[in-house]
Amino acid sequence: MKSTILKDNAEFIDDAFMVCSLCGKCRQTCPSYLANLWEFTSPRGRIETTFGIKEGHIELTERVNRTMQQCFTCGACVEICPAHVDVRKAILLVRQTAFEEGIPLPEEQTKLLKRIKETNNYYGKESIVSEQGSGDILIYLGCKYSTDKSLYEPLIKQLKELGVNYKIIGQNKCCGFPFYLAGDIKEFEKHQEALAEEINNSNGKLIVTPCPEGIEAFKQAGKVNIDIKHITEFLAEQKSKIKKKSGIKKIYYHDPCYLARIAGVTEEPRQLLENIDGVELIPWKLNGKTSLCSGSGAGFTELADPEEAQATLNRHIQAIKELGAEAIVTACPHAYEQFKKQKELPVFTVEGFIQECK
Ligand code: SF4
Ligand code: SF4
Repeated sequence: MKSTILKDNAEFIDDAFMVCSLCGKCRQTCPSYLANLWEFTSPRGRIETTFGIKEGHIELTERVNRTMQQCFTCGACVEICPAHVDVRKAILLVRQTAFEEGIPLPEEQTKLLKRIKETNNYYGKESIVSEQGSGDILIYLGCKYSTDKSLYEPLIKQLKELGVNYKIIGQNKCCGFPFYLAGDIKEFEKHQEALAEEINNSNGKLIVTPCPEGIEAFKQAGKVNIDIKHITEFLAEQKSKIKKKSGIKKIYYHDPCYLARIAGVTEEPRQLLENIDGVELIPWKLNGKTSLCSGSGAGFTELADPEEAQATLNRHIQAIKELGAEAIVTACPHAYEQFKKQKELPVFTVEGFIQECK
């Protein structure tokens, strides 16, 4: 093996392997395992595989790498593990190794990365932003919000209603997170450097984004020198100025993995929704830091295994319907898109739902 990534992280991997008691708690929370019911796709299986690759007992083939690409990187296993095994980190290290070894990704993921390199956008689309603004609150829309007016317009309307002095930054600049997830750290950093140059040379005092993966991308790269908040955190600080009444009563709020578990934001979206007259949030056991992935996996895993993604979505939708929800609200563009694949319940972003209310 040419890559030294696993050897360089031997202490972490050995420790994870040794402290994992194979209790199997993580299997019950892992959407990837529950869709496949295959030990290689369970968190504990992936730890064993990581250790085996590092030791040279298991060859990192395309097939083995595929079991790592099927991970949604949702972090649910890390949250539940009594031994605090960071399975997600181990999986990302194997992905980096596979990239360095030149092991091909599943076809649709390869196409996505090529498209981003060519267009600087996840969807291969141009930004629809017409009015950039010149304020000191920097809005990083990310690939979806900057190209889809059904998400972009309510966000801008909300900012204007609150009188926010904003400036849209990073138009036609993907944050590069799909490269991070693919293990291509150099390409990821290239995207982050381009964004950091624009941000660090601006008069901005805060970055606000509706994309939870964007927050993680900025944090992992560590190249921007100002703070970053999710749009729900930013709006929750001003919730007393938002007076709305909803016709839809029973709302299922889905905690996106990257917002709730990775960024730790669970209360602010709820505060915003509960602030609306008439809204009743339907509680479900898989919420907050123990939430269930939408089946997207940051828009990346769904491309590796669409069947696994669909099975996870189906499981989620079934539960939401049994709860009696009238609408789904989420705070992640990839989760939003995933939930939109079902047609029975309306789907909103948090600010999109606020704008829908009178
Ligand atoms: S929950 Fe933790 S200790 Fe238990 S099997 Fe999973 S990784 Fe191992
Ligand atoms: S990060 Fe999520 S999908 Fe990946 S192994 Fe852990 S629980 Fe499973």
